[in-house]
Amino acid sequence: MEIKEARRAGSYFGAAVVYWAALAGPQARRWPPGAPRVVKVLIVEDQQRLAQLLKQGLTERSYTVAWARSCAAARDALCETSYDLIILDLGLPDGDGLDLLREWRKNGFKEPVLILSARDAVQDRVKGLDLGADDYLSKPFSLEELLARVRSQLRRQSDVKETVLEHGVLRLDLVKQAARLNGQPVDLTRREFALLEIFMQNPGRILTRTLISEKIWASHFDVDTNLLDVYMSRLRAKLEKPADKPLFKTVRGVGYQLL
Ligand code: CA
Repeated sequence: MEIKEARRAGSYFGAAVVYWAALAGPQARRWPPGAPRVVKVLIVEDQQRLAQLLKQGLTERSYTVAWARSCAAARDALCETSYDLIILDLGLPDGDGLDLLREWRKNGFKEPVLILSARDAVQDRVKGLDLGADDYLSKPFSLEELLARVRSQLRRQSDVKETVLEHGVLRLDLVKQAARLNGQPVDLTRREFALLEIFMQNPGRILTRTLISEKIWASHFDVDTNLLDVYMSRLRAKLEKPADKPLFKTVRGVGYQLL
C-alpha cells in the first residue's frame, strides 16, 4: 500500500483505536505519588491476548492505556494526541513498526518508544535503537521486566509534559481535551484542538504550513493546502470573535503564528 493511501486509510482505521480505562478514578491521576498527572501509554500490538495482558498490567498500575492494533490506527492515534510512552510491536498486519518509528521521528514526534518484538537478533535491536527507539525488549518477556522498563523510561523524561497549556486568553487542558478562552469553554473538534495545541506548544513561533500539516495529518505529501486554510479559518472564527482581537497572524507563503 502506498504511504499516501495508508495515511488516508489512517483516519478510517482510527475507529479501531480503543481507549481503555480513561481516567480510571482519582488514583489514576496520581503519578508520581502526590503529583496530579495522567500517564498515557499507547500499545501498538496486533495480538489481542498480549495486548490485553499489557493493558491489564499497565492499568493496574494506574496508567491510562490506548491500544492500536495496526500501523494505520497507531498513526491516527498519535496524530490526535500525544503519549508519554509508546510500546511498539514490529510485525503489524499492515506494515512494519520500524517504518512507523522512522516516520514518527522524521515528523518530529518525540514520544519515547519501547520496541517489543520477537525479533531478537543483535542487528534487529541495533536497527531499532538507531531508528530512534528508546528501549528494546524481546518476546517472550516478563511483565515485571516490561513494567520496570516502562518506569525507567518515564523517569527519564526530564521535561515532563505540561497537561495544561496557557497563553494569553487561551487555556488548553490536554487531559480533558478542553479549551477555554477568557475562562469560557470553547467547543472545538478534535482536529481543531490538535491544531490549536501545536500553536500553544509553540507560542510566538512561525509554524510553516508543512510542519503543521505533518503534525495534524501526519503527511508531508502535497496536502491540499486549502484544507489547512479551512481549518485555520474555522479556528479563528471560534476564537478571535469571542476574544475580540486577532490571535493568529498569517505569514504569507510561510504559515501561521500564534500571537
Ligand atoms: Ca505482531
